[in-house]
Amino acid sequence: MVETPDWKARYRDAIREMEDQERHWRELDRALRRLAGRLCTLSLGMAPTVDVELTKISRQVQDEGTKAAEIEELIKALLHAVTTNDQPRGRWTASCNAVAQLLERLSTGALPDPAMQALAAEIASVDSDESLARLLTRAADLARERGEKLEKERASAAAMLTQVTQRLEDVAGFLSGSKADWKTSQDAALVLNRQVLSEVDGLSKEAVAATDLEPLQALVASRLESISGHVREFRQKQDRLFVEQAQRAEKMTLRVAELERQTRDLSSSLEKERQRARIDVVTGVPNRAAFEERLNEEIERWKRFRTPVSMLVWDIDRFKKINDTYGHRAGDRVLREVATCFANRLRASDFVARIGGEEFCTLLIGTDAEAALRVANELREAVAGLKLLFHGQPVRVTVSCGITTLRDTDTGDGGAIFERADAALYRAKDGGRNLCIAA
Ligand code: GH3
Ligand code: MG
Ligand code: MG
Repeated sequence: MVETPDWKARYRDAIREMEDQERHWRELDRALRRLAGRLCTLSLGMAPTVDVELTKISRQVQDEGTKAAEIEELIKALLHAVTTNDQPRGRWTASCNAVAQLLERLSTGALPDPAMQALAAEIASVDSDESLARLLTRAADLARERGEKLEKERASAAAMLTQVTQRLEDVAGFLSGSKADWKTSQDAALVLNRQVLSEVDGLSKEAVAATDLEPLQALVASRLESISGHVREFRQKQDRLFVEQAQRAEKMTLRVAELERQTRDLSSSLEKERQRARIDVVTGVPNRAAFEERLNEEIERWKRFRTPVSMLVWDIDRFKKINDTYGHRAGDRVLREVATCFANRLRASDFVARIGGEEFCTLLIGTDAEAALRVANELREAVAGLKLLFHGQPVRVTVSCGITTLRDTDTGDGGAIFERADAALYRAKDGGRNLCIAA
């Protein structure tokens, strides 16, 4: 059979159309693969398990020979990784970790607390925003209760101290009074003793002189003998009483000394407690409360003497990454190393505190703006030079810093001064980190 030109033309057209369509699908396929690859790259960093699946997919989609069924399998694996990662470790991990840390700190030095243990056990079951909100509310309540309890304990200890001091004063007053009374009474007895004895002596001599009155002499002599016997007895009694009283006074003095020692111990443990409340448990440097107290003191001093005061606000760079890569304990170690590095390099008159998660603040007293920038850069370089090893790998930690120096236009509002330094810190972060910028 001979084909007509009409069929030929239609056949060619159909082939061309198919080729067009095939090209179109291939382009679309390539674009989709590119899109999938880019989406995978963009999504990297959510979680290590998810990253593994994303990397597999982005590799496979680049290979045009990959079958749709294979990609289907990879997508299933990705979905599995995402959902297991989401519950509850993904979305809520940071908050759960923060609550766990909070509970750990609240329990420092105390006996296990059932309420806290129950709350700690609940962290693992957080699986929704609602349950997280409940957990956070209870943790906040617990923290508040702890604070109130501490405050009450401190107030009752202070009241007890006042009472003890009052009692000590009473006892001391009684002792000095009673000692004086007994001294007077003993003196009086001695005088009496002396007078009676001299009377007796005189009488007895007179009686001896009266020789013709023999019976009377005997009588008087015997009476005098009995008087001196009474006097001796009186004196012995008085002596015994005095010795007893002196022993009682001695005992009382010892008790007073003991009470004084106890009071001193209590005062010093109260002071230690007060100090402990001002020290950050992770790093051992002063905490935010201590910082605010010191800042206000320094501002008052500055208002009076105008000695330059500079403030450096620090933030560890990419700290979250250190936590995510090496774990929270490694993160805590970094906090300690950085705090120690700062503390070791500052002058005794300077001050460093941990004021937040990975934020520190230093106050340089007697340091003007120019010197403050120099000190800040020295501290920054010291941190960058720390030799830290995690899992056997050297890890470089850097910090950024915002600097400000108190100015004549400052009203003395610590918050405003801090904000100025903090704004400079943000500029240091924007400027690429491991940087100190003065406001
Ligand atoms: P940047 O350079 O912008 O400051 O980045 P960054 O990662 O340091 O900042 P970001 O604020 O995103 O992360 C701070 C992290 O600090 C998040 C939080 O989990 C962690 N963190 C806060 N307090 C503590 C703590 O006491 N111990 C540990 N290990 N980590 C903490
Ligand atoms: Mg920060
Ligand atoms: Mg940071």
